[in-house]
Amino acid sequence: MKKTFSLPRVLLLFALPALFGGLFSSCGEESAESTLFAMDTAISLRITGKNAGEVMPLLEEELRRLDLLLDAEGDSLSSLRETGSLSDPEIAGLLAESLRISGETGGAFDVTVEPAVEAWGFRSGNTRVPSDEELLSLLEKTGYESVRIDGDEIALPAGYSVTFGAVAKGYAGDRLRAIAEENGIVSGVLSLGGNVALLGKKDEKAGKGWSVAVRAPEGGYALTLELSDTNAVTSGSYERYFEKDGVRYHHILDPATLKPAETGLVSVTVVSRNGLLADALSTALFVMGPEGAADYWRSFGEAQKFEILLLTEDHRILASKGLVPLITGVEEPYGELVVIE
Ligand code: AMP
Ligand code: MG
Repeated sequence: MKKTFSLPRVLLLFALPALFGGLFSSCGEESAESTLFAMDTAISLRITGKNAGEVMPLLEEELRRLDLLLDAEGDSLSSLRETGSLSDPEIAGLLAESLRISGETGGAFDVTVEPAVEAWGFRSGNTRVPSDEELLSLLEKTGYESVRIDGDEIALPAGYSVTFGAVAKGYAGDRLRAIAEENGIVSGVLSLGGNVALLGKKDEKAGKGWSVAVRAPEGGYALTLELSDTNAVTSGSYERYFEKDGVRYHHILDPATLKPAETGLVSVTVVSRNGLLADALSTALFVMGPEGAADYWRSFGEAQKFEILLLTEDHRILASKGLVPLITGVEEPYGELVVIE
């Protein structure tokens, strides 16, 4: 039987309020909460600050706008797929940043894998295993180097298409954070299907950050991190997959082969103030595998201000140096911690 599964990637450990869409205030500060479904995932928003109740609808509106704009089935990307061209300043900007990250990751991150995502059935849900010949021929319709951007104008060769599946939520988190901060929000958690954007601290006075749990593929969580004013984004092979003839096929594709990346990792978490970068890199580093990811962090982690945490199939945790002091709890069987430095 073919089946796809989709699980949230990062669990938030703080008690989720029973009542969503609520507004309450204390000490002159207001808090507001909302849950909605967008970008193919459950989203929960919780903000505290002056006028939180007025800011919340702005966040919801922005999410709905981005949901339509960045959806692979939406008007903009469908038109780009069908005609090979599109004029849109925001999509051109996001695509330009995506291409820059593709170059830097040696093509491990590549939004032009879309025809292969579709061939595997991850877009439509009609999952299947494409033949090697089919994937070989699709390699001629993928490759970020062939995308042209001139100002707001995007041009793709015939047969090409793009998906923002690996960056849309990270980008949305950055946009929501900007709107919230411009409007006086000092603290909050924006949880987009597991991409978590954290504003401020959980308890400013006590200096306590938010507790974020990284999911274990077996269920439950592998460890928790105490984080403030940043983003935690996880890509995992357990998020979306199907099984055929006893083999499991997941949704993170190696652009070099257009097959699911099998590198001994089960998940990659990237922590960075830049949500778009964290989202793109969580996907790219998964494709690169443990050694490639560690080398990438050594080359770019300091300059680009991101930290990484990898979970391996054999239950090891590999964490870059800066993240190690923020690990607050490790669950069995994830005992062994390897520090990347
Ligand atoms: P994420 O969950 O952020 O790792 O994104 C995975 C989604 O991005 C998949 O469901 C595909 O739609 C798309 N995708 C898969 N492989 C890649 C890749 N190597 N580069 C960019 N996008 C990808
Ligand atoms: Mg991603």
